[in-house]
Amino acid sequence: MNQRLEADTNMGTWRETLAASITRPEDLAKHLDVDPEAIKDVVGEYPMRITPMWMKLIKEKGDAIWRQVVPEPEEMADESADDPLHEDLDSPVPHLVHRYPDRVLFMVTNQCPIYCRFCTRKRLVGKPGFLRKGELDRVVEYLKAHPEVRDIILSGGDPLLLPDSLLERILKALRGIPHLELIRIGSRVPGSLPDRVTPELCAMLQKYHPIYMNLHFNHPDELTPEVKAACGRLADAGVPLGAQTVLLKGVNDDPAVMMRLVHQLLLARVKPYYLYQADLTRGTNHFRTSVETGLEIIKALQGHTSGMGVPHFVIDAPEGGGKIPLLPADYLVDLTQEKATLRNYEGKVYSYPQPESPPSIVAHSNGNGNGSRGRELPMVGSASTGCGIADAMLE
Ligand SMILES: *Cc1c(COP(=O)(O)O)cnc(C)c1O
Repeated sequence: MNQRLEADTNMGTWRETLAASITRPEDLAKHLDVDPEAIKDVVGEYPMRITPMWMKLIKEKGDAIWRQVVPEPEEMADESADDPLHEDLDSPVPHLVHRYPDRVLFMVTNQCPIYCRFCTRKRLVGKPGFLRKGELDRVVEYLKAHPEVRDIILSGGDPLLLPDSLLERILKALRGIPHLELIRIGSRVPGSLPDRVTPELCAMLQKYHPIYMNLHFNHPDELTPEVKAACGRLADAGVPLGAQTVLLKGVNDDPAVMMRLVHQLLLARVKPYYLYQADLTRGTNHFRTSVETGLEIIKALQGHTSGMGVPHFVIDAPEGGGKIPLLPADYLVDLTQEKATLRNYEGKVYSYPQPESPPSIVAHSNGNGNGSRGRELPMVGSASTGCGIADAMLE
């Protein structure tokens, strides 16, 4: 069985590789010790796809890979919302989410190379709903009427599952909009179907720069030599690569695993961008970790390894609040108008003096009630650094 999977990974076109993926419970049971009956309903509701590369990884590496793509009956036993981020409510035209002032999210397909069991868009992925010609026209029309949009993220589903010709049609249409500066593509393809990253695809993308990509990776074992090579081809085509990672119980909720992941990403020329707290999506709650877990991971990375390797830890706020960054509370011990008291990664405390405050703020902060005097005679009695203009005025 392994023999055949290896052959599938190395030969033929990426479409053949994708077609050799496992999508039916009874086929899954031929590879792994699962009861196909127990997951039939789950797969009916939330499709499964496991590429040959990922099946091989599951067999070699076990749980952290398994949990991401093998369906569990637990997915049906949870009553959370289908669309906790209210993406459907922030959608002015079909397939487009416009939540932030200057950037939009454009879902160009519902298909993915692998179906992550923790997917935020579980309500949509793997189901029919391709972008139609008329729908692309409507999106372009909307964008032309919104000159404030300067950044568009192609997502889905996975945009790299579109044939080159279709993807190029979208890119060409978007590049016809003068105020659209950046095009980003979010994809799990390089990490799960690396032969899709063909020289032809790279050459096509290169024509539409600046193109950025954020790739989805959750565990260091996903960075196989083939995956690193695919990332290298994109980087060689001038595509800056970032990584988005979801914090997942039993997969990567461990500082040591996360340290290995960010090192592997940097080796693959991918810069860790976001670490996401898991969303409240229905069918994914068994993956959630405490918020403290994410903060502990950031603490274990920041200062202890390359700053390049430290992602932003964010919670995408329920009900469309958008991404909110979180930092461990430890770093800023205290902040006054005089100084910031700081704690470094080793736990040592430092003091950073503030610049001399403008007069009105000094008067306000003295709390002595003598606001007008404060305004006329700035910095009276302050322990200033001694060379400011305020000292000169007093002489
Ligand atoms: C994440 C997201 C973006 C992009 O956010 P950045 O912080 O710029 O990466 C844009 N729109 C929506 C709806 C998003 O969820």
